[in-house]
Amino acid sequence: MDFNDTPEEAAFRTEARTWLEANAQPLGPDDEGRNMGELLTPEIVSTAQAWQKKKAEAGWACITWPKELGGRSATPMENVIWNEEQSNFKLPNDIFSIGIGMCGPTLLTHGTQEQQERWIPRLLSGEDVWCQLFSEPNAGSDLAGLRMTAVKEGDEWVVNGQKIWTSGAQICEWGILVVRTDPTVVKHAGLSYFVVNMKSPGIEIRPITQINKAQGFNEVFFSDVRIPDDQRISEIGNGWSVALTTLMNERQSIGSGMGIGALEDLVQFASEIEIDGEPAIDDSQVREQIADYIVKARGLKNTSLRTLTALSKGLPPGPEASMGKLVGAVLQQEASSFAMDLAGTSGALLDEEATPASAAWQERYLALPGLRIAGGTDEVLRNIIAERVMGLPSDARADKGIAFRDIPSGPPS
Ligand SMILES: Cc1cc2nc3c(=O)[nH]c(=O)nc-3n(C[C@H](O)[C@H](O)[C@H](O)COP(=O)(O)OP(=O)(O)OC[C@H]3O[C@@H](n4cnc5c(N)ncnc54)[C@H](O)[C@@H]3O)c2cc1C
Repeated sequence: MDFNDTPEEAAFRTEARTWLEANAQPLGPDDEGRNMGELLTPEIVSTAQAWQKKKAEAGWACITWPKELGGRSATPMENVIWNEEQSNFKLPNDIFSIGIGMCGPTLLTHGTQEQQERWIPRLLSGEDVWCQLFSEPNAGSDLAGLRMTAVKEGDEWVVNGQKIWTSGAQICEWGILVVRTDPTVVKHAGLSYFVVNMKSPGIEIRPITQINKAQGFNEVFFSDVRIPDDQRISEIGNGWSVALTTLMNERQSIGSGMGIGALEDLVQFASEIEIDGEPAIDDSQVREQIADYIVKARGLKNTSLRTLTALSKGLPPGPEASMGKLVGAVLQQEASSFAMDLAGTSGALLDEEATPASAAWQERYLALPGLRIAGGTDEVLRNIIAERVMGLPSDARADKGIAFRDIPSGPPS
């Protein structure tokens, strides 16, 4: 892979940078990481929507999506350039990461033309916020074991059950939903995939308060919720393969770009904070530790370029994206912990006024355990890498070949 911009890419970079300089604020030292723990207030939501609308009107929203649906039909490489350039600016809280990172790409792959025309332009322009209703209290890593049911009545499906950890559900218009439509077949074969209007009668959303006081995710209860059949994305019973598209895009969007931005912040932080009256960055042990993180982050970046090579050849993001998330989340966690150590006693405080860098490192540190779970836990990602990248034998599965309704659950009677 050639790491230099071609003349066309350099021209594209200049165009992107010029637009950003005219329309966004440059990033300040305390800006990165701040949005991880913030409450989803109406002001945060409307600021994010206004920014998304502005980008859409100028042709800079979801740039790889088709022009006829509001995108720019840009190449994956142009998207990398755009993201690199955007990362130098102060951007609003990313309330669209699920909609744009996961729901949109799934609809573009599996939705009908009518479904794409109905949902993509409003998603792209920030009018509608989307969430992902996959996990249930007993189905996270083992997603195909989910129990929410949908039964067909005429042209509608009647849905009952509970989802959990649904990020942003309280501010969303639409959600992607996987439910069980046939319990008489093996667990992966009886699932179907829908789009649901989050304002439908029968949906109750209860926010969950986290360690950093944010309410990023929710419990969502469905009681006789009716979903029209034209909001079904998969063939009946083929929801698992559509869900896999969402999950691959999720790992790709969580894993990509992780590391370098946070480490540039760390270098800046170590230059500003002092140890025994000298800048921490002048201490050789501090420099050595930061250099170690940067080496890992560079390795990650180069690995992500391999995924990019696949994308630029028109292939979907593969299981290699799991590596970016696995290594990148741990790396960010270690670097945040190191920054808090450098801050001394104030490193333990989550108080914007009393801590260096306005508690951004503390907020980041408290949000990062979630990142090691969301979109596949460390153990699950290791299984994927072992089986699908390294070709090792698969994980033992006691429920293989058994109809879902016959899989034992709960204590033996
Ligand atoms: C910040 C955050 C945001 C999230 N947002 C969403 C969202 O918007 N929508 C949504 O649907 N879900 C969301 N989730 C849920 C997330 O997808 C699940 O938490 C995740 O899939 C793990 O499932 P679980 O919590 O049920 O843990 P479990 O699957 O019960 O896992 C418990 C433990 O067992 C281990 N384990 C499980 N299976 C295996 C195995 N086969 N081999 C080895 N170890 C195993 C796991 O690694 C883990 O340590 C979010 C989670 C977080 C933390």
